[in-house]
Amino acid sequence: MTITDFAGLGLPKELVSSLAKAGFDTPTPIQGKAIPAQLQGRDILGIAQTGSGKTAAFGLPIIAGIFALEGAPAPKSCRALILAPTRELAVQIEEMMRTYATYRRLTTALVLGGVSRQAQVQKLARGVDVLIATPGRLMDLLDDRKVRLDQTRWLVLDEADRMLDMGFIQPVRKIAAAIGPKRQTALFSATMAPEIGKLAASLLNDPVKVEANIQGETVGKIDQQVILSGSKQKRDKLNELLADDSLNRVVVFSRTKHGADKVAKNLGIDGHTVAAIHGNKSQNARQSALRGFRDGRVRILVATDIVARGIDVPEITHVINYELPDDPENYVHRIGRTGRNGASGVAITLVDGTERSKLRDVERLIRRTLPVTGTLPAGSENAEQRGAPARRGRPGNAGGRPANAGGRPGNGGQRAGEGRGRNQSRPPQSGTDKGWWAKLDSEVGKEDGGRGEGKPSKGPKQRWNKRKKEGAQAARAGGGGRPQRRNTSAA
Ligand code: AMP
Repeated sequence: MTITDFAGLGLPKELVSSLAKAGFDTPTPIQGKAIPAQLQGRDILGIAQTGSGKTAAFGLPIIAGIFALEGAPAPKSCRALILAPTRELAVQIEEMMRTYATYRRLTTALVLGGVSRQAQVQKLARGVDVLIATPGRLMDLLDDRKVRLDQTRWLVLDEADRMLDMGFIQPVRKIAAAIGPKRQTALFSATMAPEIGKLAASLLNDPVKVEANIQGETVGKIDQQVILSGSKQKRDKLNELLADDSLNRVVVFSRTKHGADKVAKNLGIDGHTVAAIHGNKSQNARQSALRGFRDGRVRILVATDIVARGIDVPEITHVINYELPDDPENYVHRIGRTGRNGASGVAITLVDGTERSKLRDVERLIRRTLPVTGTLPAGSENAEQRGAPARRGRPGNAGGRPANAGGRPGNGGQRAGEGRGRNQSRPPQSGTDKGWWAKLDSEVGKEDGGRGEGKPSKGPKQRWNKRKKEGAQAARAGGGGRPQRRNTSAA
């Protein structure tokens, strides 16, 4: 049986009404599966990313459960704890939870780094229904006994894979241990890497597995194109693409923080409205970049992978990969910034001679050969390419601009899904947009100048030093070898 409305999932009336007000009529596939299971008290292991509707999938059953409770939360405690890897995602989640509970009182608090600790402590003092937190700051408050988790009944780990990437595994385990075993737990991750499997096995009790097939669904709707370009020609190529006004709201992805700054600087010099967002930027700078982009004052947001992944900015018309990511899965996350909520989108990837094997990895992952146009300058073919097998079924003209490189989403010849006009496919107004920025504004800048979160206890530098030490030990023991640096500059 397919359930086509929220009432059919067993949610209380007040929740269904607030969802209708927010423009949510039909549950997304992951909501259809996860909500009834959680209402029955089951743990959830969800493979889903931003765009699948995962926040409502874990949030609605929690709110329904809280509505059914009597009394008030105990001082310093929370009934539900949602852990998120970044401040931006945490703010978004809180805003969504409040939207879902429009017609009944639900108390929420945010605990995140980079903003006033005192205000958070004060808010927690009376106890709250739902606490949304990033792990680093929450650990600080736990250590200082400003918060207690022994009364918490629901735990959500959102974007667990990213929390692990950011070195939050120990805090996450400690926080789960502080809650104790009498809890209902939901773990959401965009990927199912072995470490996630291990974490899930240790924290979840006989979970129901739900998966939003984002790779098949979302990627299928995005018009994906590859343009070959020498690395030195990428700046011109990007300007050529941006000359088309239909590239209305564009995210340009760069592999490294340094690269993102450089691309943003050049775009500024070339006359574009642009902002950059990455892990080296202060919280204030990240916030103002996102706000300008969301408001439409800034046409182009240059981003690295980690920071941009959970951000829900509607109506991004184009994603441009200035460079391919090291990890092909990040390609899927990147292009998923466009084509949201049934809208269409275009993803264009500039590929130079050194990136051919990365392109093949991406194509293997998404199980399709991407249409390629453009040429590499003579002499830029490297050794790696000479050994590369010929590409199969390359459509389009070999040189020059792709047929629809800057084309409006919806009219693309290479589209895998059905052609849908841009205006017909505008995402529904969720009602979550308005307060988002006001919230972040009011939270940010009160204290430590935007530092704090995003500085996990064991950051990339520490991990690098650890690997270096291990490498030196191995070398002393006769193993030799330099430790492998794992993409530490991305984000
Ligand atoms: P999420 O994957 O939770 O980040 O949600 C992505 C976007 O989809 C957010 O803007 C939500 O407000 C929106 N959304 C989630 N569920 C639904 C739904 N059932 N109908 C319409 N929009 C939704």
